[in-house]
Amino acid sequence: MARKRHIRWDRVAAVFGPLLLLILLLCVCCKDRGASDESSLTIRTTDARTPVPLQTTADSQAVPVTNPDVREYTIVLDPGHGGNDDGATNRDKTRLEKNDNLQLSLAVRDHLLKHPHVRVLMTRETDVFVELDERCRIANSANADFFVSIHRNSATDGDGVEIWVNNSAKDNAMDKLLGGYIMEKLDEVGVSNNRGVRYGFRGSSRETVGNNYYVNRNTNMPSCLVEMGFMTSDVDNRFFDERMDQYAEAIASAIIEIGEDKNLYNASAQ
Ligand SMILES: [Zn+2]
Repeated sequence: MARKRHIRWDRVAAVFGPLLLLILLLCVCCKDRGASDESSLTIRTTDARTPVPLQTTADSQAVPVTNPDVREYTIVLDPGHGGNDDGATNRDKTRLEKNDNLQLSLAVRDHLLKHPHVRVLMTRETDVFVELDERCRIANSANADFFVSIHRNSATDGDGVEIWVNNSAKDNAMDKLLGGYIMEKLDEVGVSNNRGVRYGFRGSSRETVGNNYYVNRNTNMPSCLVEMGFMTSDVDNRFFDERMDQYAEAIASAIIEIGEDKNLYNASAQ
């Protein structure tokens, strides 16, 4: 026969009382914690009366804080040739100009981007064919400060670095300066032969106004075309491989310096 159990309310209270208190306490704590989390999601305006919600989405965090008044120094780098246009080759055709041009241009870009407020546009970043007029359109529509085309030469004989600028009747003082700055820096690194800054294109003369490389003729900003040694010269190829990064740094620092000297570029702008 079952023995009738009496409920001992004093024991029930002794066991469940503290438990109930604990649950109550936990609820109060969580509420407080929630409130403080909420306050951490707001930033206060200077008068501290209107809290402004702080956006915490991934998108809003990705937006860089930039001052729209700071002027960007815009450089277009143009690695010559690409895709089915190999450009020049070395004597046994194992080395293609398009690849050297791209490799050096990408390295110049990387050096330029170490400086604040510098914007670099590339007419190509991979081994693709880009029409000459498209290369110019990229620079003109970006309203770039300078356009620098990177190429390598070829000839049955000859070596060294030369830089071509526009020889047309328009004011080409800045083009000449740009070429001069770059040539000087490359010479400091060391080239097999400093062939200097030249006007027009190979075979033309200073007097033949209007004969220019397409990209020098059709870009609206100061421009130059750098011929980084001869693909057909073993010494130039060796220098290109051994000094590639130094050449890239030289071209980038020339671009930065002319920008500073002509007040087109201010690294310390806030
Ligand atoms: Zn070329």
